[in-house]
Amino acid sequence: MKVLITGGAGFIGSHLAEKLLENGNEVFVLDDLSTGTIHNIEHLEANPHFHCIIDNIKHEEVTEELIKECDQIYHLAAAVGVKLIVQQPTRTIETNISGTEVILRLASRYRKKVLVTSTSEVYGKSDKSVFSEDDDLVIGPPKKHRWAYAASKAVDEFLAIAYWHEKRLPVVIVRLFNTVGPRQRGQYGMVIPRFISQALDNLPITVYGSGNQTRCFLYVKDCVEALINLMNSTETVGEVFNIGNPREISINDLAQLIKEMTGSSSEIQHIPYEKAYDKGFEDMQRRVPNIDKIHRYIGFTPKVDLPEILDNVIDYFRNNNKFK
Ligand code: UDP
Repeated sequence: MKVLITGGAGFIGSHLAEKLLENGNEVFVLDDLSTGTIHNIEHLEANPHFHCIIDNIKHEEVTEELIKECDQIYHLAAAVGVKLIVQQPTRTIETNISGTEVILRLASRYRKKVLVTSTSEVYGKSDKSVFSEDDDLVIGPPKKHRWAYAASKAVDEFLAIAYWHEKRLPVVIVRLFNTVGPRQRGQYGMVIPRFISQALDNLPITVYGSGNQTRCFLYVKDCVEALINLMNSTETVGEVFNIGNPREISINDLAQLIKEMTGSSSEIQHIPYEKAYDKGFEDMQRRVPNIDKIHRYIGFTPKVDLPEILDNVIDYFRNNNKFK
């Protein structure tokens, strides 16, 4: 099978490319290297079944050729990372909405199945802590830039569902909950690579807010397996799925665990949100995925637990110092 991955030089995209090649597919990556990097995929370049095209998904001639050529499209290209989103809301909105619009329109022209990656951010600031796919999306006001990401991804979801209903374009939508693992960078705000690189350098570990907020972390290889199984099932078309690990940890406990596992002498420093991001920044206190639906459809259960994830990421940073 020929498979296109938009954003395939990114953190999740590069792991997906690896797995799809391993499964015997021909893989085409389309990435403009805005947040992705060639280092993530250079080990794949010698493989004759791997093709990498450096371009923006909004360049329609290039994207159209690739969509025409491929049988399936994993659409991962997006502006990601809370820090990037808060600093560059225009880029976030334009990339996420216009980019997805191009992919869906062209996929519909050639009748190719698309998996659209959305995010747990779309659940927004709902009072619930465990989120199911049919829950309301409760998004904050436009003056708080964080919500630009949730709103843009929610529009992507509405558009994908609209294509399915009106044009019978086969789409699957996934909401990713804090996916982590080797190759994720801290520069756009993600907590695990930031804490590990701080700990390895014996610099202060920067906990934002009280640190009592919790998150659930899914290992990237568990995520990739779920993406492939959702794409290959005919039952999943027109549906939305949470992908995550329901096991919760507070950010304080995460900082402590990373400090212990790295043997670091770092102090754990609490920083108010308005210093870390911007004034009036809103964070989610808890965000736990309900994974009953994805379990029912494809038997998904996360396999890798947090200590093993952290071990792998710590090893990655120790061996790839320059990528911190
Ligand atoms: N966080 C933190 N210190 C950092 C980066 C993030 O305390 O250096 C917190 C952040 O405020 C949030 C959690 O860690 O509560 C997860 O942040 P991340 O950006 O990784 O993902 P989010 O769940 O916010 O999308």
